[in-house]
Amino acid sequence: MPQYNPPLRDMQFVLHEVLRVVDELKVCPPHAEVDADTINAVLEEGGKFAAEVAFPINITGDAEGCRLNKETHEVTTPSGFKAAYEQYVAGGWPALSCDPQYGGQGLPFVVNQAFYEMLNSANQAWTMYPGLSHGAYECLHAHGTEEQKRLYLPKLTSGEWTGTMCLTEPHCGTDLGLLRTKAEPQPDGTYKLTGQKIFISAGEHDLAENIVHLVLARLPDAPAGTKGISLFVVPKFKVNADGSLGERNAIYCGGIEHKMGIHGNATCQMILDGAVGTMVGQPNKGLQAMFVMMNAARLGVGNQSVGLTEVAFQNALAYAKDRIQMRSLSGPKAKDKPADPIIVHPDVRRMLLTAKAYAEGGRALLIYCALLLDHELHHPDEQVRKDSAELLALLTPIAKAFLTDNGFVAVNECLQVFGGHGYIKEWGMEQFVRDARINMIYEGTNTVQSLDLLGRKVLANQGATLKKFGKLVQSLIEEEGVNEKMSEFINPLAQLAEQMTKFTTEIGFKALQNPDEAGAAAVPYLRVAGHLVFAYFFARMASAALKAVAAGSTDPFYQGKLQTARFYFARLFPETATLMRQARAGVANLMQTDAALGVEGI
Ligand SMILES: Cc1cc2nc3c(=O)[nH]c(=O)nc-3n(C[C@H](O)[C@H](O)[C@H](O)COP(=O)(O)OP(=O)(O)OC[C@H]3O[C@@H](n4cnc5c(N)ncnc54)[C@H](O)[C@@H]3O)c2cc1C
Repeated sequence: MPQYNPPLRDMQFVLHEVLRVVDELKVCPPHAEVDADTINAVLEEGGKFAAEVAFPINITGDAEGCRLNKETHEVTTPSGFKAAYEQYVAGGWPALSCDPQYGGQGLPFVVNQAFYEMLNSANQAWTMYPGLSHGAYECLHAHGTEEQKRLYLPKLTSGEWTGTMCLTEPHCGTDLGLLRTKAEPQPDGTYKLTGQKIFISAGEHDLAENIVHLVLARLPDAPAGTKGISLFVVPKFKVNADGSLGERNAIYCGGIEHKMGIHGNATCQMILDGAVGTMVGQPNKGLQAMFVMMNAARLGVGNQSVGLTEVAFQNALAYAKDRIQMRSLSGPKAKDKPADPIIVHPDVRRMLLTAKAYAEGGRALLIYCALLLDHELHHPDEQVRKDSAELLALLTPIAKAFLTDNGFVAVNECLQVFGGHGYIKEWGMEQFVRDARINMIYEGTNTVQSLDLLGRKVLANQGATLKKFGKLVQSLIEEEGVNEKMSEFINPLAQLAEQMTKFTTEIGFKALQNPDEAGAAAVPYLRVAGHLVFAYFFARMASAALKAVAAGSTDPFYQGKLQTARFYFARLFPETATLMRQARAGVANLMQTDAALGVEGI
């Protein structure tokens, strides 16, 4: 059976010693009073919930899965899911970073982000029920009418109701411009929605009394493509003017998917048969409104992979210290035993450190993204709010794709540490691999994230936002460049930062001649950008660790951090050279391949 211990020490290091979130948030009026003790206490309690309530039902939830009653269209979640959700609601956890105006606790997003990492480690499938609700909350908070906010936000905040995002249809996933679900205006100002959605996570379940679906659909006169999509809120049970539950709405689950992983989360086909909804935001501007939820969900998916990486790492590490097999190449280490623990073998350490570095780099990036979101919403200086929003937009596709690609590599390496036992169910490692695989697909596949990064976030503004990130890197280089102890971390960062401008310009220039060049370069480009970001955070983490050591700390945590940073720069970061070569390899070797792939007449 796998184990899980919330990584509170590392979270506190990132929050307080690297990012200094309390100081950063002091200027934001709603968070002026938040102190480190409060943050630590909340995370300690949150860690207990994750480890003691959500984690024990992870394996059983995977084995049992969800069941649909085809007559009532009701879905039953695995044993223990409902009780855990009740405990979650009773503990006030859904309200953590929600607006106090709607019953929320108003804590900064950085706290929610760290809390969610622990939930994802504990049980990704279960965590998706409250996770999607939070995205729906944010979307309605940003774009809902006063009436919609009054009716829905208090219940989403308390967790009495959950939320979903209904985008995908059988014929359209990536290309939402093709969607067909119709919304007919009614004389009373509501809309009747008709159509079919597929793959809707948490689309139906027995955890909460109502489900708030956010649905993309087309008005009758809507222009074709993405410019003709509107957003609607469609509750499972209609909501009366006083907020009480009304009659059952005509949106129901027609089937649930039998899938590779996250079995405890119901992935539903949803039928809309004249379901009544109200519009969120402006007609034909639904996709922009939905982006609030999609961006939150993209960070959330990156966080799923960091969570899985952490829990897989912890278990692989414990196994590697315990399992004895062969002798160390440099002579026996555990002389009292018939063989050495496998952690003496260099390649076993490589696998473990890969996971550790991916978890710790990802954690720093995600908490930084949450800090940007807190600044975007609450910083008193308009320029800081604007810069934070731009930086967050740049980092979001990286957080989604880089962290989920890394996560899949990491959980696979952790499974490998177990040898054949990793492939056997009882150790829990194969579930982590199956669960981690979806993270590279949903919320926009990782290819689509890379196109978003290169096309919309970098080339569309001639690299202006990338330069803003470059300034952060530059000031770190200037600050630490004189410190000899930092040179092993700063030099590779500075080198990549310098190469990045030329690399980007080169790809941008080629893409102007032939847009397929951007498509051919985007995936390796995103990984290079991901390493630039990781190198920046590993350098900052190394700097914080060195400062603690210089101040006299003998806590082995700091040596561990420095060793992990060294491993990262020596063994993971160097792939940037290959990736840049791949990105520069041009489009011809991909597109002039009709004979190789037997392509005719497309
Ligand atoms: C378990 C699960 C849960 C999900 N939850 C939800 C949910 O809650 N709500 C929701 O709305 N959806 C959900 N989805 C749907 C998910 O977001 C889509 O599956 C995903 O966006 C991809 O769409 P698709 O499956 O139609 O693949 P397609 O869009 O058909 O893509 C197929 C392949 O083509 C590639 N491709 C497509 N266009 C391009 C391009 N322009 N350039 C390069 N490559 C391209 C893709 O990257 C992919 O590799 C879920 C899916 C699953 C499996």
